[in-house]
Amino acid sequence: MRLLFIGPPGAGKGTQASRVAERLGIPHISTGDMFRHHVSNGTELGAKVDAIMKAGDYVPDSLTVQMLSQRVAEDDAADGFILDGFPRTPAQVEALDELLSEEGLDRVVVFEVDEGELAGRMLARGRADDTEEAIRNRFDIYRKQTQPLLDVYGERGITVSVDGMGEVGEITDRVIAALHQS
Ligand code: ADP
Repeated sequence: MRLLFIGPPGAGKGTQASRVAERLGIPHISTGDMFRHHVSNGTELGAKVDAIMKAGDYVPDSLTVQMLSQRVAEDDAADGFILDGFPRTPAQVEALDELLSEEGLDRVVVFEVDEGELAGRMLARGRADDTEEAIRNRFDIYRKQTQPLLDVYGERGITVSVDGMGEVGEITDRVIAALHQS
């Protein structure tokens, strides 16, 4: 199965993507995690994206698409994967469509969350981009650039919504159930 998990910053989609990927035996591909690895390993790409991520801005599509394309071409992704945090812009949707050609995504899991609670959760998590200012910026950019993707995939009839509030294990069960039902 080729899946995309989507939702606002701090929605817990990374946690869920890793748990569901394990259950389904497919890789969890998180562009955020990949960029963070580059930053902590001090690579050339890491040097380019560090300040962008700290400010809560999106990394340019060209860099993101190149990194993601290489990852999806690896052997372990041949039979499916969970994308977490990509695509996030209309240009990234186009790039992914080209990459997957006629096969496309099977399902897009949309995390429905109470946005009022997310900033508090993120501040408690304390990642480098979890400052008040960066969080505000990430929400703004999410609304402008990423939320419209829900309509794009909605029109394709492949979205499933999952209540993302509650206990971690319960949410995982909801995702698995939603994937079975749809
Ligand atoms: P969250 O969804 O909680 O904001 P992520 O780990 O998915 O966290 O992303 C963290 C940061 O990584 C983003 O704010 C952005 O700077 C960068 N990033 C991740 N994925 C993308 C993407 N597809 N396009 C552009 N930037 C990205």
